[in-house]
Formats: sequence, structure tokens, C-alpha cells
Amino acid sequence: MRIAINGAGIAGPTLAYWLRHRGHDVLLVEEAAALRSGGYVIDFWGLGYDIAERMGLLQGIGERGYQVREVRLVDADGHRVGGFSTDVFGRLTQGRFTSLRRSDLSALIYGALGNSVETLFGDSIAGIEEHRDAVRVRFDRAPSRDVDLVIGADGLHSRVRRIVFGPQERFELPLGYHVAAFEVEGYRPRDELVYVSHAVPGRQVSRFSMRDDRTLFLFVFRDEYTPRDRLWSRDDRKSLLASVYADVGWECPHVLAAMRSVSDIYFDRLSQIRMEHWVRGRTALVGDAAACVSLLAGEGTGLAMTEAYVLAWALASYPRDVAAALVRYQTLLMPFLRRKQASAARFASSFVPRTSLGLAFRNVVTGLLRIPVVADAFIGRDLRDDFELPAGA
Ligand SMILES: Cc1cc2nc3c(=O)[nH]c(=O)nc-3n(C[C@H](O)[C@H](O)[C@H](O)COP(=O)(O)OP(=O)(O)OC[C@H]3O[C@@H](n4cnc5c(N)ncnc54)[C@H](O)[C@@H]3O)c2cc1C
Repeated sequence: MRIAINGAGIAGPTLAYWLRHRGHDVLLVEEAAALRSGGYVIDFWGLGYDIAERMGLLQGIGERGYQVREVRLVDADGHRVGGFSTDVFGRLTQGRFTSLRRSDLSALIYGALGNSVETLFGDSIAGIEEHRDAVRVRFDRAPSRDVDLVIGADGLHSRVRRIVFGPQERFELPLGYHVAAFEVEGYRPRDELVYVSHAVPGRQVSRFSMRDDRTLFLFVFRDEYTPRDRLWSRDDRKSLLASVYADVGWECPHVLAAMRSVSDIYFDRLSQIRMEHWVRGRTALVGDAAACVSLLAGEGTGLAMTEAYVLAWALASYPRDVAAALVRYQTLLMPFLRRKQASAARFASSFVPRTSLGLAFRNVVTGLLRIPVVADAFIGRDLRDDFELPAGA
């Protein structure tokens, strides 16, 4: 089949890999001028880790990954008030857990394609028309093409979803927070392999020291600190962060000063995508486009890879019936993704508590995670993936 995939993040290249494996003719379309680099760090384990192993990526992941030792919660003076050793993740996943840049994972997956897949960078699918024998795809730049199947792997704000299924608002469930991230060079202090985090009611800021003397900062704050329904330019993002974090203490004055020279700031609502169907006619969605779980699940990349893998498996299992394959993909995975979404959403209210009492409670609970039975109760269930990957995508 000729298959056009919009989005070369995590799900798109994973799907391209497994489709090429079966000999399909794949076109990747990515709106960025090149694969995105830099950016935030993700935790990576579970089904995604298993699929990465099947793709031969574990060595590269090991080289680029960070074996974080500790999550440390600190007060305004930098004194430890909570947190835990990340041994708990290693123990619960039999050592199959790492942290790495999302963009490094994306580049590794894309690299596994070699030259087997045509990619249109700096372009996007702009129109999809189904005809009896083919789907006519229009692009922003390239001339139109006929394909047999269109895949939206274009993330939380998927354009393919908008074109085929309807407006974003119909499917987006905001979880009550905004997220921002940026990185700077030469920041001090550094704490190697420690994720350091400071919070006041409703606002949290964390830093992680990376290779090449870079430091990543992640901000998570409740929606009440953000004027609604605004598009945020880079300068607006900076002034919003500067005002939201002006009185948060700790290293914030220093961090906000470092932000002035930054050219790239990630900024978005913290949302999930909840849909009844991921398939319409000859278009299907994968990854965040279909079922974004949000950063609260800590597993969106692995789940995006799972959806891509299972979709490729379903197409291989029903070679003469694409419609049946797409339905199989959806029915097999949707209940699992719903459970993952529900558990991430449950976690939302306690992620950055609204009150000092809530924060104090969170600090105590995280301190208890060094006790295995407590860790199993609080983390174990969410870390486990109760879904078995089919063999042979
Ligand atoms: C701050 C933060 C922390 C996170 N932490 C974790 C974590 O710890 N563990 C974890 O597993 N996950 C984490 N996630 C979630 C994870 O990043 C996503 O779930 C995952 O990247 C989804 O992969 P995807 O391929 O579906 O989408 P994306 O990775 O978003 O890729 C989508 C791609 O589509 C492209 N695109 C977008 N629009 C268009 C268009 N119109 N035309 C063409 N291309 C387009 C984009 O440029 C991008 O390359 C985190 C997310 C955030 C924001």
C-alpha cells in the first residue's frame, strides 16, 4: 500500500519502520524544517522499551539516556523536603527504565529507517479526499498525491484529526495545568543525575542537569495563573513565566534571568485527547493525535510506539481488508489507553497541589517511596502495562 503519515515525532517514524518492514510504500510528512532537536526529557520504559528492543535501538538509547538517581523536592532554601531514590523504577521494571530527550528518541527511531522512507520536511497534509480507489492528499507545499491510507501522527494538536474528525475542542480534555520548558547552557548549580524540584501552591519548577553543560527547566502551573484562550508568542511566554514565578523563591530569580537569552520555549496546555474512534474511512490516528495521555502518565512516547506497532501488526494481519485491520487496531488498544488516561487524570489534582497542606502531604508520601511496599502501592500499578504486544508486526 501507499501510506502517507503526517508527523515525524515518535509514533510516525515507528509506524513507518514497521510498515517498511512489510514492504509498504511510506511517505512521512513533517511540518518542521528538520527533525526537532533539543527539548524536554522523557522517562522511557514498558511496552515502548520492548518495541525499541525489537527495532534494535537499545544501544543508542543507552548511550543517550540518563540513569537518574534521585527525585529531590526542595524548599525555598534548597533543603531537601521530600523525594525518593529512583531505584524504585529500576526495581519495578527489572532495570528496563531510562530517561532521555524526546528528540533523541525520535532521531534514533528515524535513523532506523535508513533511506527507505521518503520524508517531506517543512510541509504538512492540508487536505484529504477519499475517492473510490484512492485517497487524494493535498499538502501545503508539495503537489497532491494519491495514497491508499492516511495516518495522523501529528501530535496533541493534530491537523489530520481536525481535517477528518473535527475541531480540537471536541476531543481535548484540559487537565488544569500549563507546562513550559526550556534549556540553557552553563547554569549553576548542577546536580548530576538528580531531578530537583521546588513547588509552592499551584506552581512547580524543576531542573535537570544534562550533558554538554546544559540544564533543562520544566515549569508546571495551574491554569488559574494563565489568561484563557491566548496564543502565546515567544516573548509572551517569557513574560508570563516571569510573572507567574516572580514570587516562587528558590533559584527562580536566577532561572528567570537565564531565560532571557533563550530562543526556544516549549509552552502548552496539559491535556489529554479522548476520542470514541481513531479511524474514519481510510484515515487513522496514532500517538498523541489519537489518545494523548499527557506528561502525567510519564509514558506517552512508549504508548505512541505501541499504537504504531499494533497498527502495523493489524495491517499485516488483514492484508486484504484494510477496514477490518483498522477496526482491529482500535478495538485491541482503546480499552488499554483509556485505563492509562484515567490513571493519569486521577493523578492530576495531586501533581502540583493547590494548598500548602497538600504540598506537605505530597512531600511526606514521596519520602515514603523508599519503602518497597509503599512504592509498589503508589507507583507499581501505573508502571505496569497490562497489554501484551502481538508478535510479528
Ligand atoms: C513536558 C513533557 C514531558 C513529557 N514527559 C514524558 C515522559 O516522561 N515519558 C513519556 O513517555 N512521554 C512524555 N511526554 C509525552 C510524549 O512526549 C508524547 O506522548 C509523545 O511525544 C507522543 O508522540 P507522537 O509521535 O504522537 O507526537 P509528537 O512527539 O508530538 O510528534 C508529533 C510530530 O508531528 C509534527 N507535526 C505537528 N503538526 C504537524 C502538521 N500539521 N503537519 C506535519 N507535521 C506535524 C511535529 O512537528 C512532531 O514532529 C511528555 C510530554 C511533555 C510535553
